[in-house]
Amino acid sequence: MLEIHIARVTVTPDQVRVRGAVEGEGAPRDAADVIIERVRAVLPGLLQHRCSTGAEHPFEEELPSTEVPHLLEHVALELMAEAGSPRRLRGTTRWLRRPGGPHAFRISLEYDDDLVCLGAVKEAPRFVRYILEGGERPALRDVVVRLAALRAVPDVSGD
Ligand SMILES: [Zn+2]
Repeated sequence: MLEIHIARVTVTPDQVRVRGAVEGEGAPRDAADVIIERVRAVLPGLLQHRCSTGAEHPFEEELPSTEVPHLLEHVALELMAEAGSPRRLRGTTRWLRRPGGPHAFRISLEYDDDLVCLGAVKEAPRFVRYILEGGERPALRDVVVRLAALRAVPDVSGD
């Protein structure tokens, strides 16, 4: 059973940074075509992603076997895009290796609207779990409505 723990989220002027840990990262996965079929059902735009790490092949080829935090990064970006954020926004994922401990990670995401990005980070683990393990399918339309509503919250930073 996959568990994704978000431990800390930090908003900087140009990025949202997420620290967390994954349990069950190394568990056996469903077949690639099953995983792709779930993506097609729940978040099809993910199949068009390209990775900014230099790989020229589509993310679709890497998706079934990629590490959980990397998938989480791409899911969060796709949820943001579905809620109206630009598709040029990028993210990065790094492992913070701790021998013997849970698989800790750090994700950095560019954003156009910090609240939409934070909302996407909060929603993303449900999508990742569904994509990799099945179960209850998240309703993309409901999530997009919630995220788009966050975009309407006025900036209260005072400037
Ligand atoms: Zn990537």
